[in-house]
Amino acid sequence: MAGQLAGQPVLILREGSQRTRGREAQSMNIMAARAVAEAVRTTLGPKGMDKMLVDSLGDVVITNDGATILKEMDIEHPAAKMMVEVAKTQDDEVGDGTTTAVILAGELLKKAESLLDQDIHPTVIASGYRHASAKAKEILGEIHSKVAAEDEELLKKIATTAMIGKGAEVTGDKLAELSVKAVKAVAQEDGSVDVDDVKVEKKVGGSVGDSELVEGMIIDKERVRSDMPKKVENAKIALIDSALEIEKTEVDAKIEITSPEQMQAFLAEEERMLKSMVDAIKGSGANVVFCQKGIDDLAQHYLAKAGILAARRVKESDMKKLAKATGAKIVSNIQEVSKNDLGYAGLVEERTIGEDEMTFVEKCKNPKAVSIMLRGGTEHVVDEVERAMHDALCVVGVAVEDGTFVVGGGAAEMELASGLRKYAVTVGGREQLAIEAFADAMEVVPRTLAESAGLDPIDTLVELRSEHEKGKKHTGLNVNTGKVTDMDKVGIIEPARIKTQAIGSAAEAATMILRIDDVVAAGKLKEGGAGGPPEGMEY
Ligand code: ADP
Ligand code: MG
Repeated sequence: MAGQLAGQPVLILREGSQRTRGREAQSMNIMAARAVAEAVRTTLGPKGMDKMLVDSLGDVVITNDGATILKEMDIEHPAAKMMVEVAKTQDDEVGDGTTTAVILAGELLKKAESLLDQDIHPTVIASGYRHASAKAKEILGEIHSKVAAEDEELLKKIATTAMIGKGAEVTGDKLAELSVKAVKAVAQEDGSVDVDDVKVEKKVGGSVGDSELVEGMIIDKERVRSDMPKKVENAKIALIDSALEIEKTEVDAKIEITSPEQMQAFLAEEERMLKSMVDAIKGSGANVVFCQKGIDDLAQHYLAKAGILAARRVKESDMKKLAKATGAKIVSNIQEVSKNDLGYAGLVEERTIGEDEMTFVEKCKNPKAVSIMLRGGTEHVVDEVERAMHDALCVVGVAVEDGTFVVGGGAAEMELASGLRKYAVTVGGREQLAIEAFADAMEVVPRTLAESAGLDPIDTLVELRSEHEKGKKHTGLNVNTGKVTDMDKVGIIEPARIKTQAIGSAAEAATMILRIDDVVAAGKLKEGGAGGPPEGMEY
C-alpha cells in the first residue's frame, strides 16, 4: 500500500523517535565509542595524566585509572556504553589493562572507519578483525615467557609495572612486596588465586611506607567493652553468626506479664538464657568471639567476666575471611559451639590506627585469607594507593595462575603488529586490509605511551619497528628515560592475560559496533536509547 502513495511518506512509527541508518548510523556509533577512548587515552602509562572527576554531589576523585574514570563518568550513548563494558570486563577478568583495552577498541574503530570510506563492507572488516584477534592470541602464546609461582623477584616486577603511574611509585617496592606476599599466602594448592581472599583495609594517617601485611585479618571493629582484654595471645576464636541476645518477640509471644513477680521471673529467665549462651562459649574454650549480630549488654558483661574478647556486628564477608584465616567454623547455634569449631590465631589485639580502633587477628597458622593495611597521608593518597594495590594483587594473582608474562612498554604490541602483518599477507583479498588495519591498531599502545611522555610518536614507532624487524622482541619504549630499549631488562613486564583479554574484548566490541547499521531509538538518543516499541520509522 505504501508504494502506491508515491512521494508521500507513510509513518509506521510514532512521532518523536529517531532512526539513523547505514553509513550515518555507523559513523555516529563509531564517533561515540571513540570519544570514550579519547577520554581515557592520555592516562595511559606511568607518564599518563590524571583526571579529576567531580560527581553530582561535589565529591572529587583524582585518578588515572581507566576503569575508575569510566565508572565515574555518566555515559549514556549505547555505543559508548559498549566501550565502558570493555573496561568493566577487563577489570573483572584481569583487574588491569582497562585503559589499554579501551584505546585498542577505539583504534580498531578508527581504522575501520577508513576502511568503510574505501567501501569495504563492514562484514568483511568484522571477519578480518575476528581472524586477527584469534591470530593475536596465538602470537601471544608464542612470545610470552614463563614465571614460576616461587619467583618472588619476577612477580614483584609484575606488581610494580601495574602500580607505577598510580601515585604509588615512591613506595612501590614496599607495596609490590606486600602484594606478592599476600597473593602467595592465599594461593591454593592447584595454583588458583582468588584475590578476594586478600582483604585490603585503608586508614588515613602515617605514610604509604607504614602499610603492612597481616598474616590473618584486620577487622574494623573494637571490642564491645573496655573491661575485656585488649590483647589475647594463643587466641581460640569462636565465629558466631547469630545474635547473643534474647529475641524479645519470641518471649512476648509466650508469656503475658501480669504481676511484678512474673516480671522478675521473666528477667531471671532472660538472664539465665544469656548466661547459658556465654557458658556454652566459655565451655568450648574460646577466648575470642566474633559475632555477626548484636551482643546483649548482659551477655557482654558475662563475656568480660570470663576474660573473653568479643566484637559484634562483624560483616558477613569478614566472618567468611576470618574462617579462612583462622580455620574456624562459623556457628549458628550458640549452645552447640564446641572446641572443634574454634579457630586459632597467635595474637588477637585491638590497636588504634589513625583515629579508629581496629582488631588485628594475627599469626594465624597457614592462613588462607590475609589482610593488607594501607596507610597514606591523605584520603586521596590512600584511595589511589588502594587502586594501585588492587591492580597489583590482580596481576600477581593472574601471573601466578597462568605462569606467563609478556614485555611491556609497547614491546608485546609491536611484536603483535609485525606478526599480524605477516599473517595478513597469507590471507589476501579484502580481508587482508582489515587484518593489516588490526595490526596497525596494535601500535596505538606504544604511540600513546610516546605521546604521554612528550616524545615524537612517529620517530618512536619508526625506531621500534626497525628494532622488531631485527628480531629484538623485547624492545619497547621506556617512558622514564624516553629511550627505545629492551624493556624486559628494565623489568616492565605484565601478565600475558592482560593482552589476550584486552585484545579479545576490544575486537569483540569493535566488531559489534561495526555491524550495527540501523539505530532505532524511542525518543532522543540522549535519553537512554531504545526502550519501548520502535517509533516514528519513516518510509
Ligand atoms: P592500563 O589501564 O591499560 O593498565 P596503565 O596506565 O596502567 O594502563 O598503563 C599500562 C601501560 O604502561 C602498559 O602498556 C605498560 O607496559 C606501560 N608501562 C608501564 N611502565 C612503563 C615504562 N616505564 N615505560 C613504558 N611503558 C610503561
Ligand atoms: Mg595498569
